Amino acid sequence: MYIKNKKLIIAIDGPAGSGKSTIAEKLSELLHIFHLNSGALYRIIGLYLNQQGISPKDLEKVETALQEIDIEIKDNKYFLNGKDVTEEIKTLEAGKLASAFSQNPSIRKKVNEIIKDVSKSIDIVVDGRDIGTVVLPNSDLKIFLTATLEERARRRWKELKVKGENVSYQEILNEIYERDNADSKRSIAPLKPAKDALIIDTTNKSIQEVVEEILSILRRKEINGNKSF
Ligand code: C5P
Repeated sequence: MYIKNKKLIIAIDGPAGSGKSTIAEKLSELLHIFHLNSGALYRIIGLYLNQQGISPKDLEKVETALQEIDIEIKDNKYFLNGKDVTEEIKTLEAGKLASAFSQNPSIRKKVNEIIKDVSKSIDIVVDGRDIGTVVLPNSDLKIFLTATLEERARRRWKELKVKGENVSYQEILNEIYERDNADSKRSIAPLKPAKDALIIDTTNKSIQEVVEEILSILRRKEINGNKSF
């Protein structure tokens, strides 16, 4: 529990499989604040546009189709035009589509508007690639999570295996490598730590250890007059 005077924004960025969403989720539970997974928004949009047969490069069609998309988040579940797509967006394919579609400026604009809108009125932890650098540069705390490529691939492989997806470790390693490469090299909002972000290497750390580390930083900083975390 914490006592607060002012709205709190925590930005957690990092490459695929660095633990962003899991750690953001745990923090949101412990601090009783909202968790917004920005990757999920890109995944939803990518999936929808791909189903409509629209290419990320077709700027006009993307722009028009974006107006048909309504995204709702309730109890950690993500809804696309009223349909719960929380599980559907977790596949390897949805990740690839998200990465391809996230290069489109209109899509980035739409996602950024959603994030900014939600973060205006509530305490929030947002995870993504460009939250601390571009979307919410005034965040109270910016964390950039990293881990070796092998460890990140191992984590994703375990996650997907539990969900019954039949993919090899090597396939995931290649996919993550390519996605990180595309995300880091793109011209708009590339994946990189903000200058004032705290970088945490999670390779040899448990989720609990990373969460504790972030909580102790929050306690030390007494962010926004929050008395205790
Ligand atoms: O975090 P997740 O793996 O779900 O993100 C899927 C893809 O969405 C990323 O590879 C990236 O291309 C894109 N993304 C982004 N900016 C964000 C979050 C995700 O470009 N803030």
